[in-house]
Amino acid sequence: MTRLIFLGPPGAGKGTQAQILAEHLHIPHISTGDILRQAMKEQTPLGIKAQSYVDSGELVPDQLVQDLVEERLEQADAKSGWILDGFPRKVTQAAFLEELLQKTGQGGEKVVNLDAADDVVVARLLSRGRKDDTEEVIRRRLEIYRNDTAPLIDYYSDRQKLLTINGDQSQEEVTHELKETLG
Ligand code: ADP
Repeated sequence: MTRLIFLGPPGAGKGTQAQILAEHLHIPHISTGDILRQAMKEQTPLGIKAQSYVDSGELVPDQLVQDLVEERLEQADAKSGWILDGFPRKVTQAAFLEELLQKTGQGGEKVVNLDAADDVVVARLLSRGRKDDTEEVIRRRLEIYRNDTAPLIDYYSDRQKLLTINGDQSQEEVTHELKETLG
């Protein structure tokens, strides 16, 4: 049973690695960013509420993402494990998740931290060209990452849940190291 949380700044490659590893392990890859973008595309009530935050690089209010994660983890395919990508993004969300997993008997989660330097991630994101990948919005997302999300590294380290993977290597090498550690 594999339950994994991917941490790292935007552009560190967590989405790509999470997707590859999820396929390898036959478990769902749950990306809150992907779910929000899909909801925005379909203009669902969630998408309409999230739009202005996502477009400006701000965090969507906790309640919205927490509800969507709770609902997603209740689905049948999540019973055999999962990889969470983009959640939690701050300590309040991590505390919520801890309680949710305890309540639903889904413990044993591990956290993978994939870091990369700011200039590397900015260059990567600018070449990706998503709507929220303008330089100004990218800088804001990085600032939020360093202020709100990076403290989760200590949070999970203190709880002995952190796995260290060297993110400063090629995509193939990171995938290989992840599979060696987890597969
Ligand atoms: P990236 O990792 O490249 O910044 P994501 O796809 O993970 O991109 O997230 C895109 C946007 O979706 C974020 O900038 C934020 O507005 C919103 N979002 C995603 N996950 C969360 C979350 N856990 N809490 C609040 N907002 C979130």
